[in-house]
Amino acid sequence: MTCHPERLPSSEAKGSACHPERSEGSPQTLRDDVARRTTNIIRRVRVGGDSALLELAYELDGVQLDSLEVPRAERRRALAALDPDVRRVMERAMRNIERAHRAFAPTTIETETEPGIVVGRRPDALERVGVYAPGGSAAYPSSVLMACVPARIAGVREIVLCSPPGRNGLPADVVLAAAELCGVDRVFAVGGSGAIAAMALGTDSVPRVDRVVGPGNAYVAEAKRQLASEVGFDSPAGPSELLVIADESASPADIVGEMLAQAEHDVNARVLALVMSDRFAAELRRKVASDCVRVVASLDEALDIVADFAPEHLLLAVAEAESLLPRVRNAACVFLGSTSSVAFGDYMTGANHVLPTGGAARRYSGLTTSDFVRWTSYQRVSPAAATRLSADVATFAEAEGLPAHAAAARARSGPRQIEPCDLSDNRNLFGVAPAALRELKSLDARTALPYPSGDGELRRAFADYLGCAPENVVTGNGSDQVIELAFRALAGAGGTVAWCEPTFSMIPRFVEWLGARAKAVPSRRDGAAGVDALLSADADVVYLCSPNNPTGVTTPAREIEALIAKARGTVVIDEAYAEYAGKSCVDLVATADNLVVVRTMSKAFGLAGLRVGAAVASPALAKRIGAMRAPFSVNAIAQRIATAVLREDVDWMRSIVRETCTEREALLLGLRRLGLDALQSEANFVFIPIDDADGVVQRLAALGVLVRAFNGAIRVTVGPPHMVESFLLALERVLGERR
Ligand code: PMP
Repeated sequence: MTCHPERLPSSEAKGSACHPERSEGSPQTLRDDVARRTTNIIRRVRVGGDSALLELAYELDGVQLDSLEVPRAERRRALAALDPDVRRVMERAMRNIERAHRAFAPTTIETETEPGIVVGRRPDALERVGVYAPGGSAAYPSSVLMACVPARIAGVREIVLCSPPGRNGLPADVVLAAAELCGVDRVFAVGGSGAIAAMALGTDSVPRVDRVVGPGNAYVAEAKRQLASEVGFDSPAGPSELLVIADESASPADIVGEMLAQAEHDVNARVLALVMSDRFAAELRRKVASDCVRVVASLDEALDIVADFAPEHLLLAVAEAESLLPRVRNAACVFLGSTSSVAFGDYMTGANHVLPTGGAARRYSGLTTSDFVRWTSYQRVSPAAATRLSADVATFAEAEGLPAHAAAARARSGPRQIEPCDLSDNRNLFGVAPAALRELKSLDARTALPYPSGDGELRRAFADYLGCAPENVVTGNGSDQVIELAFRALAGAGGTVAWCEPTFSMIPRFVEWLGARAKAVPSRRDGAAGVDALLSADADVVYLCSPNNPTGVTTPAREIEALIAKARGTVVIDEAYAEYAGKSCVDLVATADNLVVVRTMSKAFGLAGLRVGAAVASPALAKRIGAMRAPFSVNAIAQRIATAVLREDVDWMRSIVRETCTEREALLLGLRRLGLDALQSEANFVFIPIDDADGVVQRLAALGVLVRAFNGAIRVTVGPPHMVESFLLALERVLGERR
């Protein structure tokens, strides 16, 4: 067998047996010659239309045609004459192509970027599509099905097919039969670059189309290149390619079979097997050329070669094909496991066999229904959203020196309205972690309903995220549970727990439920924890929340370190809001054996409803806390989602945190304009000292805006711009009523 593991210029593609436009000479002369002759043919079709096509049929195909269009009766005749067995398998192939392509068909998608702002896109089928089907020995009805069925499913109004005439003046019978089977609207006996030019430019007979797809010889490829600015095309097609990765689980005979099958397509086909042992390579080399087989040291090396080659077909004839799939880069179509023969994909599985070659798999995909649609995008802005947008859009437009745009935006500003919003529970109001959404959608009974098998994965994910070891981590049903477990393990009934007032409102209750003794000491004037007061409480457990809820104030690292060093008992640092502050005491766990750091997925990660939290402590301390925990504290669904989010969505979380901090500054600025000053928060909420906090909260609630009242202050969760604006508007009204 011949084989070409190195790249060849794609214009030499399929130069063998497709259409009798022939050239001779060196590759470069050949390419120049193909380009020149193609330019000439395109010019003739552009000027002469149908008469040029008739002349070309005479010159190149050796037939005198009366008309270019093939009558419907000829297509029906060809289909009726088709061997019934061939017809049966063609129909089976068509059904599977239909199933697969219907399942992947593009659909309308809408999303709300902000309340009242809807952005959507709708797939609209192309009006008219052209399919090119080569003739001669390259007349493949399977390619006709692969192009026409997806076009039909996409809803293309008219499918036009061109194929070169044979001696009888008609395209090959198999092509006509396949065209009839898949409902092609019009067929023309036109071949080569003339056909591409006719469909791209339109003639009296051949209608101009919006996109042309289908394989062809070097002239067809060159015509597509030259006409690319006038019509859409499919990805460039060159000689077919197969890369095989085979391990010892594969049968050498099967691999040889696959390689020979690929080489049959084309004398220039490129075929390469990457194998793991000299023994396996020697077996293959008995039947195929030696340079078509390469021994690699590892699967990683094989995957790097794949990524570099970007093959049309990749056969993973390895035991762990499925687990290799996520690591594959730049392959157009992957065949998983040695029973997944490429031949099945060429004909029957329903996957499309029109695939990019020559390295184009780096930037192109195989043919899909999406190739036959264009997208109409649309957007809708509600009156309330228009009011919210107008000032910012005007600012942007003015910065770009476009005053008329700014004026148009301002003209849409209606009376500002208070939109109901809940800013009372410090939830993440900026969106949902993408991995959580995906995992929720893909839940199934088998993983969700049995008892969870431990929490190892989740602990590992927390450990990787926080930079500690899984042995340091105890997970729980929210950080609520983790704090309770820590109090139970480290203070117990009758023990003492100290904290600074005000702090997380559940702390006194946890202590009371446990039957422990409470030692609440005051915070400093600036809101930070009073470390000296905490130390003098001489408690079994010191609880410190940083950034603190409800003030948002962090206690400086130096003071926390001093507290840990001097405390008689264990220090529990609640870092529920640490992501917003961008600082943490987790690293201290490695050296302090009286420290427990508590984290949650409820705040920055936005998973409050999932109930997942963790304690981080020395392995010995973690063991004591873990011993208080019932085995299935975190349910299987929560574990799966939280693990995925910790593994995949840390960047997403960080961008949400940045947005939150920007809005927090906007909120502080707005408050100052109203004559109010909040404490310096490093969390996703602000604490605003105010007279008659209860009364203010009640009046805000009457306007639909919910916030929390504390002794002499209100706490407001930071939300996206429209919520901050609603809150400020409502507060302005409430303060106005008071005056
Ligand atoms: N710690 C602090 C400081 C909190 O504010 C909260 C909830 N508001 C929690 C812990 C508990 O969070 P969860 O149980 O949702 O993890």
